[in-house]
Amino acid sequence: MPGPNELHTLAAPEMADEMLRKIHPLTPALMAMLAKLNTDEPPDHTPPPFLGSFRHRCPAQRNVSKPIDLREKYLYPSTEMAATTNSTTPAALIYREGKCKKCGQTARSTSGTVTNPDSRPPIEGRVAR
Ligand SMILES: [Zn+2]
Repeated sequence: MPGPNELHTLAAPEMADEMLRKIHPLTPALMAMLAKLNTDEPPDHTPPPFLGSFRHRCPAQRNVSKPIDLREKYLYPSTEMAATTNSTTPAALIYREGKCKKCGQTARSTSGTVTNPDSRPPIEGRVAR
């Protein structure tokens, strides 16, 4: 049985670049964009990429376990990145992030799913499955 971080994760960081390119040639570059975002703006928590809600001990609420709602965000390749491949299929990386309204702690996934944004637009609002 794979661990919770391995389920439904097409673009896990530990996958070899060659495997990722078979999903879409821009997948390694999109994963690098997400890794850079997580380095530049580090989140307080790194939930698995499929969660709709992540529980944290909220310092603003007597350290009680409270949910942070996670929403889908899309990372799109730049025009320069897209020009490096001859693939005509559009690609975007779905990841999830959220912020506690009480204490301000943030959560953002470290991996996501590469999809065609034309056929799979972001889910609006709270994501819980
Ligand atoms: Zn909080």
